[in-house]
Amino acid sequence: AVGEDESEKDVESVCPYCGVGCLLTYHVKDDKIQWTDGRDGPSNHNRLCVKGRYGYDYSRSPERLTKPLIRREDAPKEADPQIDPANPYTHFREATWEEALDRAGYDLRNIRDKYGSQALAGFGSAKGSNEEAYLFQKLVRTGFGTNNVDHCTRLCHASSVKAMLEMIGTGGITNQVEDVARAEVIVVIGANPPVNHPVASSFMKNAAQNGKKLILIDPRRTDMAPHADYMLQFQPDTDVALLNSMMAAILEEGLVDEEFIRSHTSGFEALQEHLAAYSPDHMEPITGIPAETIREVSRLYATSEGSMIFWGMGVSQHSHGTDNARALIDLALMTGQIGRPGTGLHPLRGQNNVQGASDAGLIPMVYPDYQPVNDTATQEKFEQFWGSKLDDQLGLTAVEIFNEAHEGNIKGMYIMGENPAMSDPNLRHSRESLVHLENLTVQDLFLTETAFYADVVLPASAFQEKLGTYTNTDRRVQMGRPALSLPGDARQDLDLIQEIARRLGLDWNYSGPREVWEEMRQCMPSIAGMSWERLDREDSITYPCPTEDHPGTPILFLDKTFWTQDGKAHFQTADFTRAKELPDDEYPFVLITGRQLEHWHTGSMTRRTQVLNAIEPMATLSMHPEDLRQMGLQPGDKVRTYSRRGSVDLATRADDGLHRGQVFLPFAYHEAAANLLTTDVLDPDAKIPEFKYCAVQIQPSAEQ
Ligand code: SF4
Repeated sequence: AVGEDESEKDVESVCPYCGVGCLLTYHVKDDKIQWTDGRDGPSNHNRLCVKGRYGYDYSRSPERLTKPLIRREDAPKEADPQIDPANPYTHFREATWEEALDRAGYDLRNIRDKYGSQALAGFGSAKGSNEEAYLFQKLVRTGFGTNNVDHCTRLCHASSVKAMLEMIGTGGITNQVEDVARAEVIVVIGANPPVNHPVASSFMKNAAQNGKKLILIDPRRTDMAPHADYMLQFQPDTDVALLNSMMAAILEEGLVDEEFIRSHTSGFEALQEHLAAYSPDHMEPITGIPAETIREVSRLYATSEGSMIFWGMGVSQHSHGTDNARALIDLALMTGQIGRPGTGLHPLRGQNNVQGASDAGLIPMVYPDYQPVNDTATQEKFEQFWGSKLDDQLGLTAVEIFNEAHEGNIKGMYIMGENPAMSDPNLRHSRESLVHLENLTVQDLFLTETAFYADVVLPASAFQEKLGTYTNTDRRVQMGRPALSLPGDARQDLDLIQEIARRLGLDWNYSGPREVWEEMRQCMPSIAGMSWERLDREDSITYPCPTEDHPGTPILFLDKTFWTQDGKAHFQTADFTRAKELPDDEYPFVLITGRQLEHWHTGSMTRRTQVLNAIEPMATLSMHPEDLRQMGLQPGDKVRTYSRRGSVDLATRADDGLHRGQVFLPFAYHEAAANLLTTDVLDPDAKIPEFKYCAVQIQPSAEQ
């Protein structure tokens, strides 16, 4: 809608931050966003959190890149470059678009032709649109000739998706957040929704106020705790022990749903046998949760008319993250708490489009709609559809790509809108990998920590400057609409992908996101019924939506037919194992990393947003007050935190929601990058790193 003054307009769009996917309106004047309002979207009903309400001015930051850049010949790459993002000219020079695109595209092509396709890799973005994700993976698969394409889903819910696909045949949530109003019991485990999914958490709190039983299970007592009926503050890293003991308690008391198990599942006997070793009494000293409490919450969960489970990175980011998720799914299946309103499984998606980017095939083992790359018939289908020979090997995952680059086997990388030089584990190693590349092309809004290592930097489009679709944690596809013009010479991401594709020999001429979406609909049955007009008109449609008259599918498995080959859900057993790096005398604290309310992931957007950065301007290490006192420290005192891989200097903050011996560090701050400390040990099944557990040592700084 346009106001009376032509320079004013209201643009209906969606929030660019978390997976809740709140619909909002940008109020624009003179090509600047003046303020935002929540709209009555299905996931937010007019609500917005602080990020959605105030987090928009990053796109007009003075640090915004507006010209293509090429690395200067006298600025060799270093492992620890000292670059001021406000002054890139110490290491880069401006280039014309033609020169920058030729350098990027032809260098990547030359690497492919000289060393072979497996010497290339691409990182797409969970913050880009569905259309950008689809086109990016198509470029890597048909232009680079490899399946080495991944994005940050590998770092967040890869383990959840792995377990869900093998056990129930989908990686998507089975029930939407709004179902908390229809549940009787809501379990939130390893997630901190008031910080990471704030508007979703407000509906959970409303449900608790309305008498639903809220069970929080987390090593940290978070801001959700005052709203909970039960707070199980268990010992970090003992998820499998706790979940297995809950299932053992349910077995003990004969509360399994026998009819559901008999008719709709397989593998229960093996699970039953496995659980014999996990009685609540036996697990109490391991988990720190009294056996009676375990029995009580298990009884509640099993016997309610509807129990839902939400989980986050606290479950998934472990070297046994897939086993954690398997145990959660087992719990829902053995009690038949799935396939009805107010039940089911909901891995809370972090980024605004991490669900959509995964659906669009931005992962190394599947084409769009999770169609496996190593299935010959599927490969042939996509070869025909895209008119290109395709790689028949599974691609490398995110951390594997960096390991191969470190070894010199990956030589060229195209990174669009992600910042692995901040988000990858064991950063020193990842940053060294970037130094080794013959060509690194980075497409982004700012000179991010990853762009410090680039040969070519392509200035791209911010969320508020482009049209596209985004899929939220509820599987809702929603339309983001442009509110602002592009600054300077910055260009649309979709155009830039096409420009690189042309230089790799692909003759692409998509006129815009709509044409890309129409192609996606042809190879993705889940969205086949969502025409562009319909999305534009309805604003939010939930997949699967197979035909244009289909209303969408908010709840999966109502007919109790799972999307596995035999239509049954498959129980799996999970062994309790420990993290790969436990505390010891030298490194006595456990480090947990994560987000905070005001800052988003690696901080490239929110730390350039005035209001958000003013609220949380600096990195702090949260510690239990008793640990601080014992070390002779006050909140705010400076400390150096070491792991076996690196160190960071920062101030402390008191948090009595932590266990003693446990510390928390957000990963948004480049000046104290949490991932310099984390370990790159991977879950063997999903290749997700163990961000939620490593051992650190803390020393007071000499200077206070
Ligand atoms: Fe944006 Fe998430 Fe906040 Fe909603 S809850 S306003 S989607 S950050």
